[in-house]
Amino acid sequence: MSSAGTSTNRSGSGEALFEDCLDAFITHLRNRGLCDGQICHLRLEARHLLLWLDRHRIPIDEVDHGVLRRFRRHDCHCPGMEKQRRRMLAKDSRRFMTGALRLVRFLEDEGRIEHPGELEANFDHLDTFLDRCAAQGYGPVRLSIYRSSCRHILIWLHQSRIAIGNVDRGTLDRFLDHDCVCPGSFEAPQPRVSRASARYEYPFTKFLRTHPVSTAFANGRD
Ligand SMILES: [Zn+2]
Ligand SMILES: [Zn+2]
Repeated sequence: MSSAGTSTNRSGSGEALFEDCLDAFITHLRNRGLCDGQICHLRLEARHLLLWLDRHRIPIDEVDHGVLRRFRRHDCHCPGMEKQRRRMLAKDSRRFMTGALRLVRFLEDEGRIEHPGELEANFDHLDTFLDRCAAQGYGPVRLSIYRSSCRHILIWLHQSRIAIGNVDRGTLDRFLDHDCVCPGSFEAPQPRVSRASARYEYPFTKFLRTHPVSTAFANGRD
């Protein structure tokens, strides 16, 4: 659940929560053994997101893919963020998101941002699915494409707060149109996901047919 009990002067946002989140995040990074230079870097990027959320009165517990996409594209006038602003304008403009995405992942793990809570289980289902594909004679290249494509969709579903049981054709269309700010390997610069790409639709449809919760595309054939 969100941080309803946290002392704050706005619903889910405000200076107190801002500092509280940042301090907890830094402690988390220290506990994971990151060096001071890395922490300093991630702190600045995470602070940028918190500052922007605060300026737009967006409660932390409402952060999802849509909010992160807006953050990535914002016309930055955030105070003290001149260096960040230059990085946003650079060619690899996705990289300035690293600290923000790590902060969001941390807040999800802490229960301050609600999510379907299915990501790890879905990755496990994906492993089972890929084992089955391998047993059917799929080669390593094809398996690798299936893995990365399905993982991307599962990460996007998580970040969009969509439970796998609610996925339908329209959800897949939304994925194919999404302006990618997915964490993980998709932090690297890459063009938008193409609607024309068979790389995503076929493997994921096939995966969903084997998923114990999903009923989408259940009547199709492998
Ligand atoms: Zn900004
Ligand atoms: Zn994406």
